[in-house]
Amino acid sequence: MKYFNDLRSYIAGLDALGDIMHVHWEVDGDLEPGAITRRSYEIQAPAPLFENIAGTAPGFRILGAPAALSSRADMPYARVAMSLGLAPTLTGPEIVTALADTRNVPYQKPLLVDPAGAPCRQHVLLGDEATLDKFPIPFAHDQDGGRYANTWGTLIVKTPDGRWINWSIARVMKVDGKRMVGLMVPSQHIGQIWTEWVALGKPMPYALVQGPAPAISCISGMPLPAEVDEADYIGALAGAPVELVKALTVDLEVPATAEIVIEGHVSIERDCMEGPYGEYGGYLGAGSSAQPTFHVEAITHRDDPIWPLVVAGRPTDESHTVWAIGIAADALSHLRDAGLPVTTVWAPEAAAVHWFLAVAPRDWRERLPGVTSEEFAQRVGEVLFKTDAMLFVPQIYLVDDDIDPTSLTDVVWALATRVHPTGRRAVFEDQRIVRLPQCYTEDEYVARRGPKVVFDTLQPQARPLHSSFEQAYPPALKRRVLDNWPE
Ligand code: MN
Repeated sequence: MKYFNDLRSYIAGLDALGDIMHVHWEVDGDLEPGAITRRSYEIQAPAPLFENIAGTAPGFRILGAPAALSSRADMPYARVAMSLGLAPTLTGPEIVTALADTRNVPYQKPLLVDPAGAPCRQHVLLGDEATLDKFPIPFAHDQDGGRYANTWGTLIVKTPDGRWINWSIARVMKVDGKRMVGLMVPSQHIGQIWTEWVALGKPMPYALVQGPAPAISCISGMPLPAEVDEADYIGALAGAPVELVKALTVDLEVPATAEIVIEGHVSIERDCMEGPYGEYGGYLGAGSSAQPTFHVEAITHRDDPIWPLVVAGRPTDESHTVWAIGIAADALSHLRDAGLPVTTVWAPEAAAVHWFLAVAPRDWRERLPGVTSEEFAQRVGEVLFKTDAMLFVPQIYLVDDDIDPTSLTDVVWALATRVHPTGRRAVFEDQRIVRLPQCYTEDEYVARRGPKVVFDTLQPQARPLHSSFEQAYPPALKRRVLDNWPE
């Protein structure tokens, strides 16, 4: 399949599928792009490409919903799959498997190329010219604490000793043309690296990259283990090294085909207020907190740059597609490594990254001799709840493979009929939590500790047949019924 080396070729690929809505009429630069993008998620419309934004220079554009569900009902994961260089018709679980399998492909170090001629270096803004005010940065939601300057860009940071270069997506709010403020969670990779700079007493160099190759955005939005460079994994996924150029003013390398690169340093104090922001759980934010300042020192960009916009909220947006798929792939890798028999891990979009289903094959008892289903559920929790990615996930369901985990009808039916009101669950008390999942108490958020659970919904070895057309009738009769069915 085609690997898209920049955002523009990817947009052309979506356009060819009818999955781009060209917003050629003028929109305001405040709330309208957010409102259109949000509605686009909720009706599963083509991704809006805003070509005429009040208050910004002609040619500057915004792409909304870059990796949400596709408007093509026959290929709902087309945006995610194509972003990753996979076939647009892949199912969600097929993407999870492809991502988990890539963990075992030799990683490829990125390739440093000459910045002369690199698209990301077509325009260079320094000093007072390097201001965010030149770019279309709308409000995502009307209750947010500010305009969010990062909703889908890749934050590039490096440990002071240079051993680990992390690419991630985290929300960053615009303060003014020269300053941003970013949510710094200590347990996330960017927070771990920031903590090393704080210990040295030196501001942390960063690059914020808007609109690189879409695989870079997606993998930045997914968990990989600590001390792994996302660039190396993307090289394995793409089958070719990622091309980077030296940043202009900081000791970092940035993707050569990026639309916009913002460079500077992050303060080592939590010296600025961040938030609120309407998050992926589906509720408008409340409250703000002190977080470090991202100082803007240089900006480079392509001709007619495209700024990507994600508007988190009720399903389904990139949190529930890309991020959840990445957590599922990470979980599948960990369960495989632990030798536990699981065919896939899947997070139904509607559960807003709060529920993950681990699917057990029919023969799991042969593969785990002497293990009860309760013990199996216990082992799944022991493996997963200590991973960084599962920090965000309160509930796992261990389910049989007689249901399709991507079908909400199957999932609701199975959970309704197989979860005992009080029994058969492995509860893990006093786990690490963060304030992002919606289901905890204020005391638990303050303590950063709370319970997690694996529900054991596995059926007995002799599974009951479904009372369904598929399972309740002999094959010959089913064929006859289908053959005689009027068109
Ligand atoms: Mn990482």
